Formats: sequence, structure tokens, C-alpha cells
Amino acid sequence: ALRITDECINCDVCEPQCPNTAISMGPEHYIIDPDRCTEAWAKCQVFCPVECIEVDPDHTEDRETLEAKFRRLAVS
Ligand code: SF4
Repeated sequence: ALRITDECINCDVCEPQCPNTAISMGPEHYIIDPDRCTEAWAKCQVFCPVECIEVDPDHTEDRETLEAKFRRLAVS
């Protein structure tokens, strides 16, 4: 999964880019729900103007795991 760092300026750009609705406003800045993040084309990373979205070291997953999560979310 990806995560958003403290550098986030709450610009709202990434939230609509996520196909899994994994991004939401947290207590201080936008956050990513690791249970919903499938790193789908990493579109949020591409659009973030301050490049504050990175791989979450606590939730590193291989491509197979991410695809299985994406399929699970698609049917739920
Ligand atoms: Fe924060 Fe980047 Fe998302 Fe903007 S695009 S809300 S700066 S994480």
C-alpha cells in the first residue's frame, strides 16, 4: 500500500483519482487506508503536486497480493 506523508498540503487532487476510495481526509492531512490501497497505477502519486505519496514500509505487498486485494474490493 501507499501512504501520504506530513508534507501533504491537502490540495484534494489525489482523492478522486483513487478507484478504491482508499484516500480520505485524516485528522491533519489526507490518509490512505492500506486495506483499500492496491497501488492501482499509482495515479495519486502521479497527480500529487508535492510528491508526498510513497510506498508504506509497513505495508509492502507484491503484485499478486495487490491484484488479489483489487479483485476482493471489486466484488465487495
Ligand atoms: Fe496531499 Fe498530495 Fe493528495 Fe494533494 S495530492 S491532498 S498534497 S497527498
